[in-house]
Formats: sequence, structure tokens, C-alpha cells
Amino acid sequence: MPTPGSIVCPACQGVGRLNPGPGGRPLAACRHCGSLERHRALVGLLPATAKHAARGLVLDVAPTPVTSEIIRATAGDAGSRYLGMDFDPAADKRAVNVQASLTDIPLPDSSVGLVICFHVLEHIPDDRTAMRDLARVLADGGLALVQVPRKVGVPTDEDPSAPVEVRLERFGQADHVRFYGEDFEDRLQESGLTVTAIVMSDLYDPLECEALGIDPAETVWLCTTGEAVDLPELRGQCGASAQRSILDGLDRTFLLADQRGAELRASADRLRASQERLRATAAKLRSKNERIRELKARLADARAGHRPTRLSRVRARVGRVRRRLRQH
Ligand SMILES: [Zn+2]
Repeated sequence: MPTPGSIVCPACQGVGRLNPGPGGRPLAACRHCGSLERHRALVGLLPATAKHAARGLVLDVAPTPVTSEIIRATAGDAGSRYLGMDFDPAADKRAVNVQASLTDIPLPDSSVGLVICFHVLEHIPDDRTAMRDLARVLADGGLALVQVPRKVGVPTDEDPSAPVEVRLERFGQADHVRFYGEDFEDRLQESGLTVTAIVMSDLYDPLECEALGIDPAETVWLCTTGEAVDLPELRGQCGASAQRSILDGLDRTFLLADQRGAELRASADRLRASQERLRATAAKLRSKNERIRELKARLADARAGHRPTRLSRVRARVGRVRRRLRQH
């Protein structure tokens, strides 16, 4: 099992500890792909949206690089066309197919099978028009996954004309025009959408949330124009794909551990071999030292032995000289 604070990321299948997220929020961002809790929650829902995606276009509103390729693949698997749309793509350097506002979507009625609309409505002054246009383009059997920041227990606080510093203070971001409250769902319903609010703890058990790095309290609003989403079916599909992701991640973790083990074993072998070489060199050095000590000792002995011999030679020479002198 990954260590505490580490996850199997549903967005990139990477395994590892989470990095801090925006504002230094601890254990939020995938260290491999940068996905946050809401991205991982979205990716977890996508396998359950196949039948909706097959009903028409797949519309990714304000696409983020963390999830856009996965949403594109969802569209491809369903045999549908992917469209990335943003009002001001330059703001976040987004790659989009269509530049347009959610209040005036340039698509025919009932042409969209799946809409991803995460953290967009809180930016739009006329959000009710945007919600009505979402309902207009949504095909029969289509689904919109909507998410906004929302406070519980208070009504929506909004003021599109508020200056930037007030927006930061009241709405949490300079380009937000409101902070949604309890009435968010009513607004969606008044715009012609059938709404099911789900929290991730409805779909996953606590261990699954922990292993996938999904916040159990994360809310997503599932909007259709007809029948509400079948919750037990959604729960079954999400649970099954969560377990697949976790098991795949664990397999990869074990595989990585095996590879790491083999690398460690090879480097231990290299260390042992270089230790042997060092030992052999040390032995050679020791025997050289012995030899040098031996030679020194011999030299010392030789010196000690020679001194009296030379002295006696000198004496002998002196004796000879004396004898010669006496003969004269
Ligand atoms: Zn990731």
C-alpha cells in the first residue's frame, strides 16, 4: 500500500505522495500530473459517463490540461466529437476548439451528450442564462457534470460590479462574481435542469477516497434534462473503476519495488566487487610494507655488523704501519 499521504492518481496513474496545492493546501496536488482533488473526482466519474457521451458532442468548458486529454479519450471511446470551449482562452493559455461564452453556446439544441463545466459559473455575471443555454444544448439522455465553489448554510452572495479587492475578500478570487450558497441547486433547476448533487463519499468508501486522493466531501452536481441520474448504477460503476485503478496502481508499485530491488542488488554486487579490489590492494600494500621493513632491518643489521669490521681493518692497517716502522 502506498505510504500515508500518497495516492494512486486516477488522472495519470502515477503513484506517490501528494504535494501542497494552491495556497499551500497540504496533500492536494499529484506530484506527477498536478491534478487536484476536484480533477481526480471528475476523472473518477468519467468511466460512468460513457452512455451519455455517446448521445452527442462532448463539451469541455474551460478545459484544463490535467483532464482535457482524458475527456477527449472519453469522447473517442464513445465515438463522439470532443469540443474544448472557453470565453477567454488566452487568460489561462488554454487550447480550445471554440471561443465562446457559456451564455451563448454556438451549438444546436440537444446536440451535446456530455458537458464538463467545473469552476466556470462563478465567473459568469449572468449565470442563469448560462445554465439555460446548458439545458438547451443538452441532448435527451445527456449529462452535465457541474461544479462550483459553494458555502453550506448560507445563500449565494453575488455582486458582478464589485471591485477586485472586494471580490477577492467576498468571493475568494479576483475574477469570481459570486460565492454560491445553498440555493445553487435551485438556480440549476429553475433553468430547466434535473439535478442530483452527489458527494464523493456517496460513491467511494473512505479507503478508496484515501487511496485515490479524492476528498470525500467534494460535491458534483449531475444535471440532465430528463430523468435524474441512476445513483446506484453510478455508484457501482465508480466503485468498480476505483478498485481497478487502485489495483493497477498497486501492481505498478510492486513492479517498481521489484525494479528498485534489482537495482539495489546490482549496486550491492558492484560495491562488493569494489570492496574485494580494495582488500586485494590493501593486502599488496601490506606485503610491500613488510618487505620494506625487512630490508630496513637487514640494512640496520648490516650497518651494525660492519662498524666493528671496518674498525678492525683500520686497526690492522695501523698495526702493519707500526710493524713497518719498527723494522726501519
Ligand atoms: Zn496524477
